[in-house]
Amino acid sequence: MASAKLLATIERKRQEKFDKEHKMIDGVDHKFCNKHHIFFPEESPWIIATEEYFYHNDKNKTDGLHPECKKCGSKKAYINIVENYDRFKEDLKTYRQSEKGRKQEKEKHIRLKEKGTRKNWWQSHPDKLKVYNEKHRNHDILESEWKANQNILTLNVLIVVFPLKNI
Ligand SMILES: [Zn+2]
Repeated sequence: MASAKLLATIERKRQEKFDKEHKMIDGVDHKFCNKHHIFFPEESPWIIATEEYFYHNDKNKTDGLHPECKKCGSKKAYINIVENYDRFKEDLKTYRQSEKGRKQEKEKHIRLKEKGTRKNWWQSHPDKLKVYNEKHRNHDILESEWKANQNILTLNVLIVVFPLKNI
């Protein structure tokens, strides 16, 4: 059990941290983004301290927000992807093959289908649909798969390759 003195010290440190990272500008609480000088040096690093501009962070007991703003967070993620593109592709592939990833992909397809987005998009772009079908017919199906056409397994492959035909 922490002593009252210790608790008071923790509280004081927390307050000091808050005072250092926060500033009232025109009566609105702003927070200092610790990455802004790197990604957006031309902008003020003082960003409105709400979850609209900062991601929520349970671990941060001072204000419950991340130390960097959302804008810097996305920029950082983007740069990370560009700089490690091969790794990103691998990670994405691994993720998509994982149980969680497969479930998410499936849910995404169901959502899109429910919304009719996919169907409507292809319906309003018949030229693109034609190109897509031709491209996939020519390149994506191996000759051996065509030859094994009677095989029920191949039929399953075709269903996967041509999912749009089922819509
Ligand atoms: Zn920022």
